[in-house]
Amino acid sequence: MLLLNQVLGMAAMVLYGVRALLSEERAFSMGIPVLFFILGAIPSLLAISCEFNARETLPVRVLDVALALLTGTLFVFLIFSLVNLVGHIDDAGIRKLNLVLALQGIFLATGATLRLFGTVHQEERRFFFILTATSWITVVLTNIRNYMTLGQVSPFWELIWNLVADTRALLIPIMIVAVYQPPEWLRSYQPSKKIIQLSRVSSTLFVGLALVVLGISVAEHHFRPGAVGLFLMLIGYGLRNALIQENLVQAEESLLRVNNKLEEMIALDGLTGIPNRRSFNDTLDREWRLSARTSRTLGILMIDIDHFKTLNDTYGHDVGDEVLSDVARVLQQGLPRTGDFVARYGGEEFAAILPGATFAGMEAVADRLRRAMHGLAVENSISSTPKITVSIGAALGRFESTAAAQSLVKAADMALYRAKDAGRDRIECIDLNSIVSYDDLSPEPYPSNAHSDCGKTEVEED
Ligand code: GH3
Ligand code: MG
Ligand code: MG
Repeated sequence: MLLLNQVLGMAAMVLYGVRALLSEERAFSMGIPVLFFILGAIPSLLAISCEFNARETLPVRVLDVALALLTGTLFVFLIFSLVNLVGHIDDAGIRKLNLVLALQGIFLATGATLRLFGTVHQEERRFFFILTATSWITVVLTNIRNYMTLGQVSPFWELIWNLVADTRALLIPIMIVAVYQPPEWLRSYQPSKKIIQLSRVSSTLFVGLALVVLGISVAEHHFRPGAVGLFLMLIGYGLRNALIQENLVQAEESLLRVNNKLEEMIALDGLTGIPNRRSFNDTLDREWRLSARTSRTLGILMIDIDHFKTLNDTYGHDVGDEVLSDVARVLQQGLPRTGDFVARYGGEEFAAILPGATFAGMEAVADRLRRAMHGLAVENSISSTPKITVSIGAALGRFESTAAAQSLVKAADMALYRAKDAGRDRIECIDLNSIVSYDDLSPEPYPSNAHSDCGKTEVEED
C-alpha cells in the first residue's frame, strides 16, 4: 500500500513537471496528474482506517476497501467541481485546488500520526512510522510545489523541484529494505489506555468522516453524485457495523462456551467424569461452613476398591480404568439425594459428602453402596473378572471450626484402614460427636469412646 501510494504520487509529480515545462499558460490538462495524486491517497486512507489484527473478517475488509474507493471517487468529483481542469485555470482556481490537496495531505498525515502513537505492536509502529514520516514529507514537498505552480518560479525550476521531490518515493524502499526501526524513544514509548482507545476509535471513523465531508462538499456542486455518495456511505457503514457486531456476538458466545468447558474441566475427573478431588475440597469447605452455621451434621465416606492392584496386574490397566468408571457410576447412582456428593479422591479411592446425615442414615448409605458393588462384574470386557468389592470408612461430625473439616476426613480415612484391616468388603463408621478430643483420634488403639464398627461388616451374599 505504501509503495503504491508513493508510486502514484510520484507519477503525479512527474506529470505536473512535464505539464509545467510544456505549457507556459497552463492550458495543459491538470486532470491526469491530479487523478494520480488522489488515487495515491486511497491506499494511505485504507492503511490508517484498517485494523491490522486478524480479527476483521473478509467481508469487513472488502467493505473497508469499497469505502476507501468511494472516498477516492468523491474526492475526484470534488476536485473536478472546484476547478475546471481542462483548459485555462486562473490563479484563484489553482489556489482552491492547492488548498484542497493540502487539506487532504494533512488529513492523511494526521491519521497516520494518530495510529503511530496509538499502537503497542512494534511491527505496526514501524509501519505507521514510515507512513507518518512519508506523509508529512509529502505534505511539505507538495505544498512547496503547489506554491511554485502559482508562477513564482520558472517552469524549468518547477520541473527540477518535482524531480528532486520525487526522490521521496525512494525513502520507502530504503526504509523497508534497511529494516529501519523507529527511533529508540518511539520504540520504548508506552501509550496510555486513553490514547490507544482514541486511536482505535478514530481509525474506524476516519473513512466515515472523510466520506461525510466529501459527500456534503460534492453535493454542493453536483447534487446527485454527492447524494449517491452519502447514501452508499450510509449503507456501507451500516453493513460494516452490523458485520462487526455479529462477529463480536459470535466471539462472545464462543468465549462463554470455552469458559464453561474450562470450568467443567477444572472440576471433573478426566477418567470417570465425576467431580475430582479439587471439587471435593471446594464442596467440603462450602458444606462445612453451611453445617457450622445451621448446626447440621456432616457425614464423610472414604471408599476404596479392594485389591485393585491385583485386578490391574491380572487384567491390565484398561480393564482397571473401566472398573474405575463403573464404580464411579454405581456410586453416583447410589447417592440420588440432593446435596449428597461423590468425587474421585485419587487413584482407586472415592469420597462422598452426606450433609445433614444421621449416624444410622450414614451407615445405611455406606452399606448400600458396598452391596451395590457386588452386582458389578466387568460385564463389558471379560466375563471371568471377579467380583468388585469396596471397603468404606465413614465419619460423622458437627463442628464449629473449618479446621475440623479435615479431622472429619482424617477420621473417615482411619475408619477405612480399620475396614481394610478387618478383612475388606466392609464398612467402619465413626461418630466424632462422641469423641472428646481430636488427639484421641489415632488408628491403634482406637479410642474406646468412639462409636465404631457398625456391625454390618460381615460379607454377605447378594
Ligand atoms: P487395597 O485393597 O488395600 O486397597 O489394595 P489395592 O491393590 O486396591 O491398593 P493399592 O494402593 O496397593 O493399589 C492401588 C492401585 O490402583 C495401584 C494403581 O496402579 C491403581 N490405580 C490408581 N489409579 C489408577 C487409574 O487411574 N487407573 C488404573 N487402571 N489403575 C489405577
Ligand atoms: Mg484399594
Ligand atoms: Mg487405595
